[in-house]
Amino acid sequence: MFFFLALLPDTVIVGINAGVPVKKVVAQVGGKSYRIVVKNKWILVNGVKKRSFRLRNARLLEPVRGDYPGLLIFKPYKGGIRILNRVPLQEYIADVIASEMGDAPLESLKAQAVLARTFLMRWGKRHGSFHACDRDHCQRYEGRNRVKSIHRRAAKETRSMVLTYKGKPVEVLYHASCGGWVCEPKYVWRRGKRLPYFWTGEDEDCFEDDNPRYTWKVFVPLKSCPKVRRIPGSLRVFSMIVDGDTLYAYDIRRRFNLPSTVFAYWCTQTGVIFIGTGRGHGVGLCQRGAILKAKKGWNYKRILLFYYRGTTVKKVGR
Ligand SMILES: [Zn+2]
Ligand SMILES: [Zn+2]
Repeated sequence: MFFFLALLPDTVIVGINAGVPVKKVVAQVGGKSYRIVVKNKWILVNGVKKRSFRLRNARLLEPVRGDYPGLLIFKPYKGGIRILNRVPLQEYIADVIASEMGDAPLESLKAQAVLARTFLMRWGKRHGSFHACDRDHCQRYEGRNRVKSIHRRAAKETRSMVLTYKGKPVEVLYHASCGGWVCEPKYVWRRGKRLPYFWTGEDEDCFEDDNPRYTWKVFVPLKSCPKVRRIPGSLRVFSMIVDGDTLYAYDIRRRFNLPSTVFAYWCTQTGVIFIGTGRGHGVGLCQRGAILKAKKGWNYKRILLFYYRGTTVKKVGR
């Protein structure tokens, strides 16, 4: 367990703008504006040459807009300016769950907070010089734009909690809505890992949910009528034969721009009408399902253990 302590940082470094260097930054602190551009291996801050520059509790106007807690650090990097945000762990967790879920019941936010922390432990080293980028590649982070007291409370009430399986942090996967059917990674990605805590089957709360936000209709002009295969015992499609090609779930969504693979379809003279429900891949925690479960009184541990079978919520240092 001591191995974990070293891996959960008390300050998180976030790569803003996906960690990709930019040519120009515009920031503000208390009414004062800073225009930062790159010149050779230096940066110019309002015309003054510097090796690096820091701002505390600043607002960014370019390249992304938002209020950022902690320190913003600007450094020349690969011909541009790299923007990093140093933020205390608890603040980062609160901001991530606000960016990911917005307004939601406390226990569903707490479940997401545990996953956000678990993600840092499992993947916090893959970017090298920062812990996580601010995009879906890692976890969405928009500074404190959307954070409210309930998000801070969810972070606080799950302090130091991560989700583990046999003593190791789980693979963190989640999606907006499963449309009633969650599944294992092997049904989504061709080389999807076999991880014992993911399962395939019905998420009853979402199946019965008729919120129109999660139903959709997409028309795709196609010459032939596709054939699909569904996961046994599920309405979720995992492969499709179209114009002689076999597409796997992930590619089906990408090729036709479908929000999910839970759909029915009709072929017409000019193409195919897809009518579906759900958003996202269907693996791991379903945010919509977590919200519905919290509303009927489930606590965050019960929610997490529903989506991640046989796992344990564990307290680690900090
Ligand atoms: Zn990333
Ligand atoms: Zn669901």
